[in-house]
Amino acid sequence: MSRKYAKFIEANRDMLIEISNKIWEFAEIGLEEYKSSELLIKTLKDAGFTVETSVADMPTAFVASYGFGKPVIAILGEFDALPGLSQVAEPIKKPLKEDTPGHGCGHNLLGVGALGGVLAVKEAIDAGDAKGTIRFYGCPAEERFNAKGYMAVKGLFDDVDITLTWHPFFLNMLNAMSAMALNSVVFMFHGRTAHAAGDPQNGRSALDAVELMNVGVNYLREHVIPDARLHYVITNGGKVPNVVPEYAEVWYFIRAPERRLVDEIYERVIKIAQGAALMTETELEIDFLGGLYNHLHNETVGNVIMSNMRKVGPPKFKQEDIEFAKEVQKTISPGWIDGYTRFIPPDFMEFAMSILSQPLNKIILPVIGKGKTMPGSTDVADVSWVTPLGEFQTACSAMGSPGHSWQNTCTAGMSIGHKGMLTAAKVLVYSSIEFMNNPELVEKARKEFEKKTKDNPYKSPFPEGFKIPFDRLKKLTGNLS
Ligand SMILES: [Zn+2]
Repeated sequence: MSRKYAKFIEANRDMLIEISNKIWEFAEIGLEEYKSSELLIKTLKDAGFTVETSVADMPTAFVASYGFGKPVIAILGEFDALPGLSQVAEPIKKPLKEDTPGHGCGHNLLGVGALGGVLAVKEAIDAGDAKGTIRFYGCPAEERFNAKGYMAVKGLFDDVDITLTWHPFFLNMLNAMSAMALNSVVFMFHGRTAHAAGDPQNGRSALDAVELMNVGVNYLREHVIPDARLHYVITNGGKVPNVVPEYAEVWYFIRAPERRLVDEIYERVIKIAQGAALMTETELEIDFLGGLYNHLHNETVGNVIMSNMRKVGPPKFKQEDIEFAKEVQKTISPGWIDGYTRFIPPDFMEFAMSILSQPLNKIILPVIGKGKTMPGSTDVADVSWVTPLGEFQTACSAMGSPGHSWQNTCTAGMSIGHKGMLTAAKVLVYSSIEFMNNPELVEKARKEFEKKTKDNPYKSPFPEGFKIPFDRLKKLTGNLS
């Protein structure tokens, strides 16, 4: 029965590819994805979905719903690009438009794969092949802000039974791995200016405070768990050497494999910042930009996704795709493979290497990486603590393409990315229909979720009264993942 809906996606492939290419060209960065979200909203409205726009205080966030009653299945869609990654759809580094954003994480594919999925589920509901509610969550700014976590705070996932999501990658796999929890924080120091040669004794350097704070944090590294990560950049260190800087700021990411560990380390980093302020007679101000959870894998949802990935099969790449991928691979450092081998069990190494040495992934991988933590972070993780959630990846890029790279932007705008995207849409509709027709599966996923969160419930990383710091986020163009 589900095959009918794979056919529906194939019948709509041109439309879906066109939307994906438009979003790829818009290449709008987080919280500024006006055209991208508008196009998705229009498509969903035209298809008969009810759309609530500008949800959770974000102008580009939305929720589109179709159907009624239980279960409520949520599919997450992202559409933000990354600064500086503009790239033509060719296997040589060449920006489409110099120094502008590009879809170096393939979120144009992510959003439209999700769109294809929900449109097909709507067909199934109309045909009486599925019952319940299907929702598309228009999630902005995955790269820049914990938009999904903020949507969770606002209660947008409260009645959701199952959440499904995917991400473009170079492998076809179920993501059974966790991700790093994180805090993104700016520490600002206010001192007193003076001429650095004329009357330095009257100055109180804010930059000294930043530097002393960094020294303190670098000593702290020795006394936190080895898997924690502390990284910083000085986003304001004064203007000229002959003026004692009255203002300086440093932007930190604090990461650890579990949320509570981030909280603990963050408290210690704050003490160091306070110490630096005390030493330099400056004043400290803290701007908390956002926090993320580690990822909670739901096995029940994962198993449903996995069986449907097998039913759908991997993307069918053509010889020209393979040739294209080989060209892309010439630009990738061979060292990329080292980063992946640590997730591979020893008895699986030979098989894994035979796949990783290909230009494109042409099979569905068995489940690997359970109990491991991938070194990046994502706001999908926050949703995994408020609803049972499963995530998978499909091959949308050349094997070994680095995350957030021009190589990803290029394949996200041509047939390799499109094939991965359509495969994902099919897995999403198959899995949604399976949950919609099996209340006992929904119940099983919920029970598992409750068991895993009972003693450790989600506590939003956003402090009470938090307001999205739009201006600050626009100024700091970096990304969290
Ligand atoms: Zn991404």
